[in-house]
Amino acid sequence: MSLLIKNGRIITATDDYVGDVFIDGQTIHTVGKNLAVPADRTIDASNRLVIPGGIDPHVHMELPFGGTVSSDDFKTGTIAAAFGGTTSIIDFAIQYKGKTFKETLDDWDSRAGPKCAIDYSYHLAVTEYQPHHEKEFAEVVDRGIPTFKIFLAYPGVFMIDDTTMFRVMQSAGAAGGMTLVHAENGVAIQQMIENLVKAGKMEPKHHAQSRPPTMQADGVARALRVAEVAKAPVFIVHVSCEAAMNEIVRSRDEGNPSFGETCTQYLFLDETYYDKPDFEGAKYVFTPPLVAKENIEPLWKGLKLGYLQEVSTDHCPFHFKGQKELVRGDFRKIPNGGPGVEDRVSLIYHGGVVERGMSLNKWVDLVSTASSKMFGMFPKKGTIAPGSDADIVIFDPSKERTLSAKTHHMNCDYSLFEGMRIKGYPETILSRGKVIVENNEYKGNPGEGKFIKRGRCARL
Ligand SMILES: [Zn+2]
Repeated sequence: MSLLIKNGRIITATDDYVGDVFIDGQTIHTVGKNLAVPADRTIDASNRLVIPGGIDPHVHMELPFGGTVSSDDFKTGTIAAAFGGTTSIIDFAIQYKGKTFKETLDDWDSRAGPKCAIDYSYHLAVTEYQPHHEKEFAEVVDRGIPTFKIFLAYPGVFMIDDTTMFRVMQSAGAAGGMTLVHAENGVAIQQMIENLVKAGKMEPKHHAQSRPPTMQADGVARALRVAEVAKAPVFIVHVSCEAAMNEIVRSRDEGNPSFGETCTQYLFLDETYYDKPDFEGAKYVFTPPLVAKENIEPLWKGLKLGYLQEVSTDHCPFHFKGQKELVRGDFRKIPNGGPGVEDRVSLIYHGGVVERGMSLNKWVDLVSTASSKMFGMFPKKGTIAPGSDADIVIFDPSKERTLSAKTHHMNCDYSLFEGMRIKGYPETILSRGKVIVENNEYKGNPGEGKFIKRGRCARL
């Protein structure tokens, strides 16, 4: 099967020109002007942007958390991602106590493989480091997974101690990998939670009060300092506030391979959402929580200036009815997470390009190319070039629409961005040369997504 996309404005992280893309099978064959090649199908992309498919490097499909499971499985979540112009995801395979890394990844393979509608990979979340795990780091990297994740939050569940943090960073770095960190001061936060509960403060907004930005900045600073001593690259996930971002900038300024991301919700929403009546604040209970509005513009500025490398969603939806609302009166029990994977590419276009004058190249970098490079997928993913996978989004830059749970494809009964008017629409989506979304219809088959064997992570 061959396909010719004609007359689109082709945007990569560095290029911007009107041209044609000829796709032969699963990969891009030729990019040029007025290509005169016969193709099985031709798509006219006049007045459209033609960009590499989005990469969301931080999602949690069908994740067991707090006695329930996130409501998008690998099928519904990846179809929703496709509708939103995302053609690759990286999930987190979480090691449960007593499990080897191999058992953990085999488990995730068995659930993701048959269901994914787009290409996928995982980061390996290490929750326990026994002596026998040491040799497994190289095996995981060889398997195509160069990224490991640790939690400095959720004591008694996922949190690791500082010895383990140091050892994971060192082992991951020695194997050619990188450590991702959920950085908060989990121990101090635990005490703050207990203080709030003792005072009878149990509403959704108290979730946010129990985890202030200072405690995130503290966790980030500590993780970066330990990585510095371990001489290993480190990537801070879901940075929500300026104070934490500044720690990453400081560390990189000092010459360390320190990187970070933020997520769509932190670029649009603030802590006042926790004041919604009838327990609706629970919809915004995720970790880190939303913070004061004053952080939003610094985060956008940080993206423009390269303080942070990309934007993910931390997609981890739970329905309001039947999941979040079941635990009224105790913020500790509200499942942490929200829906987002479908809206990211469009939201960063709207908030970045339309509202803040960000360049189209920077937009493509933030939603696709940077993650491809950072997490070892470039140039297979994240660009439009001969030989790259034909993961392509044909994007209508002028169509306006309203984000809503009524029209989204995520299996979640609410939207974090309900009622928001935005400009820009991912119209036609290709995954390795096959049109999987067009005319607002899914045309693919779950299970067609392939595991992405990743190589080494980017270095400074
Ligand atoms: Zn996460």
